Amino acid sequence: MATTTYDSENIFAKILRGEIPCTRVYENDHALAFEDINPQAPTHVLVIPKGAYVSNDDFTARASDAEITGFFRAVGQVARELGLAKPGYRMLANTGQDGGQEVPHFHVHICGGRVLGRMVQPAA
Ligand code: AMP
Repeated sequence: MATTTYDSENIFAKILRGEIPCTRVYENDHALAFEDINPQAPTHVLVIPKGAYVSNDDFTARASDAEITGFFRAVGQVARELGLAKPGYRMLANTGQDGGQEVPHFHVHICGGRVLGRMVQPAA
């Protein structure tokens, strides 16, 4: 059972409604991409679906095929437009509590512009 309790006051919902600003880098019918406000790499962009989905768990359980296709096409397109396809990049989606997800609207991080090192930090 997917986690589907969506908080429509989360910060990405407000960005989608235009209530707070973002630095937009790409948009299609199903996705919006914008710069992360606290970048962890020289390039750090977030891609979010336009629909109200809490997480990857929720999105992949409930979204239509058109939404899923439109969203993941956007992820690839953004990376290409940012010049990251050839040198490479990392895409990740923190999911839920153990995944360290802070904003409860599904998003994929695209990070690149340097060698990114280990995928997961060792436990402290
Ligand atoms: P996560 O921990 O995967 O939920 O990541 C949430 C991300 O959202 C973090 O990398 C934050 O820096 C980013 N973030 C939070 N508020 C904003 C905002 N207003 N504009 C852009 N990025 C944001």
